[in-house]
Amino acid sequence: MNIPDIIIAIDGYSSTGKSTLAKLIAEQYSFLYLDSGAMYRGVTLYAMENGLIAEDGSIDEVGLKAALNDLDLDFKATEGGSGTFIGDRCVEKEIRTLEVSSHVSPVSAIPFVRNFVDERLHAFGRRKRVVMDGRDIGTTVFPDAEVKIFMTATAEVRAQRRFDEMVSKGQEPVMEEVMKNLLERDYIDSHREVSPLSRADDAYVLDNSDMTLHEETVWFQGLCQGKFGILE
Ligand code: C5P
Repeated sequence: MNIPDIIIAIDGYSSTGKSTLAKLIAEQYSFLYLDSGAMYRGVTLYAMENGLIAEDGSIDEVGLKAALNDLDLDFKATEGGSGTFIGDRCVEKEIRTLEVSSHVSPVSAIPFVRNFVDERLHAFGRRKRVVMDGRDIGTTVFPDAEVKIFMTATAEVRAQRRFDEMVSKGQEPVMEEVMKNLLERDYIDSHREVSPLSRADDAYVLDNSDMTLHEETVWFQGLCQGKFGILE
């Protein structure tokens, strides 16, 4: 099946499998996959490494605003595909720790941080044939995206997925902490003032609590066939 040159926006709650589905779509239809959450995680890691987040979690916003002028954050090709880089350093592993996860939502609620990330995301979107996942892609970053998907699943299923993912990366997570972080992020992401997580009116809802990845791709194929009149 051939999909036209479009932008596909995938939003939804934490650990709903957005990136897994987005990567598969990118692979199947030769689209560029972009993980907007990785950008927010990159900013958060940078803030932590520069001593801009205190023990109690408070953020030195003045310091962070100035520091962003020197932050070279980008997606670059790696041996395994592509990864998030700060300058020449691949930070793909460091940005996925629970410590970064615990600070990323307050950092990404800051308006100038969102502007910083949005500028970079827009530059990629000019190319089309892009599938991007995040929280506000269909509502704010690319409101004209031709296909918008809003993903959801039960908190238990999502926490288990995140737990398994962390174990597979050699981390030693505690289930209660994973669940707490997930619910906290959902809350902050949905209630912040700027670009809160919400379903765009024209987004298709995908609840994958009881679906296999294969079933999700079949669902996506059906959606595109209907939307673009593809007959295969
Ligand atoms: O997608 P991921 O869970 O890696 O995103 C990490 C965090 O980045 C989210 O919990 C959210 O706070 C923030 N984010 C955002 N807007 C996006 C993508 C991610 O605020 N478009």
